[in-house]
Amino acid sequence: MAFKHYLNEPHLGEKEKQYLHEVIDKGWLSAGGEYTKNFENKFADYIGVKHCVAVQSGTAALHTAMLALGISQGDKVVVPNYTCSGCATSVIQSGAEPLIIDIDKETFCLDAEKFKEAIDEYGGRIKAVMPIHIYGFIPRDFKKIINIAKENNIKIIEDTSEAHGAEFEGKKAGSFGDISTFSIRSEKMLGVGEGGIVLTNDSDLHKRANFFASRGCDFDGSKQGWWERYYYRAVGMNYRLPHLLGAVALAQMEKFENTMLRMKRIVGNEYNKLLANDKELVLQKRIDNSNPAYWLNAVVLKNKTKEQVRQIGIEMLKAGFEIRPGFWPLADMEYLKKYGFGSQKNGNYVFEHAIVLPSSIKLADNLEGIKEIIQKLKELI
Ligand SMILES: *Cc1c(COP(=O)(O)O)cnc(C)c1O
Repeated sequence: MAFKHYLNEPHLGEKEKQYLHEVIDKGWLSAGGEYTKNFENKFADYIGVKHCVAVQSGTAALHTAMLALGISQGDKVVVPNYTCSGCATSVIQSGAEPLIIDIDKETFCLDAEKFKEAIDEYGGRIKAVMPIHIYGFIPRDFKKIINIAKENNIKIIEDTSEAHGAEFEGKKAGSFGDISTFSIRSEKMLGVGEGGIVLTNDSDLHKRANFFASRGCDFDGSKQGWWERYYYRAVGMNYRLPHLLGAVALAQMEKFENTMLRMKRIVGNEYNKLLANDKELVLQKRIDNSNPAYWLNAVVLKNKTKEQVRQIGIEMLKAGFEIRPGFWPLADMEYLKKYGFGSQKNGNYVFEHAIVLPSSIKLADNLEGIKEIIQKLKELI
């Protein structure tokens, strides 16, 4: 279906085509190519972290992070209830159990108090926490979450899949975790089709991430005999990013700040300008000392029932505005129910009342489009 205004689009151009041609001419298509390495270095530099491993999806990046951290059976990992299901399934894949907790109602991100309650209940079994920057925004009390984790010897897996380029206190999101992950599937801020990234400052974690993403192989011809090439030391995955996608990633990275990020921020700031003091349409909260990436702009229809919100969504789609629902709360999915911890009311509230509005970068060239979207919403409420 053709829409008047789209939810979100990638920014693709000549550079992507050029690098793809170059990689095909070189003849090396699988993992470990120079374009991928170049991308890994540039991305790590951009976020301000030392080491980077490019993998095949954001979910693979999360699983790789679990394996690198040694998370396994008997462990728990705290996951907020309002996020992509990959956050919980990657934990289950590692043999551990997610502990799904409620979010903060205004930032849609992990709630620091709920995190504390989970620690009171499960103490030392919690090995890691996933503060997630939903739609490109920083969690309220982000600093507190980091400190609570540190005090309790809980590792931070900073899932930055939705927030490439977001900042908190002058530092990039993705530089706060012990290990951080990104998705680079095309619907995210920087995309190659399907892909993911693992970042860390810890050289040991980097080695382990590389090892587990490379089928459990740490062959280095300069140190071992040639006959040792196929000796594997552990159960590892084959998660590495192919060279073709590394080429696209490099092209995306080189222009990221001046295209995607800049335009997303223009769109996000315009929504803010128009809705900052609105009584009925409440945007996701931007916390002090932060600069969101504004991947998507979600609005809570405060005075409407769940049924009314669903009907308004139907009307928006009919009128040519590509909208999306919020995330289905994880603890409300049959297969994840048993992992829910405590009340999930905020996650449920946001899911039932939010509509994700068109956030395409094309709207940056035509701010009238944003006025049109809001006007239509206002008509419907
Ligand atoms: C998209 C997303 C993922 C999963 O990434 P894929 O590349 O789709 O596997 C994980 N976490 C969050 C927060 C995401 O938005």
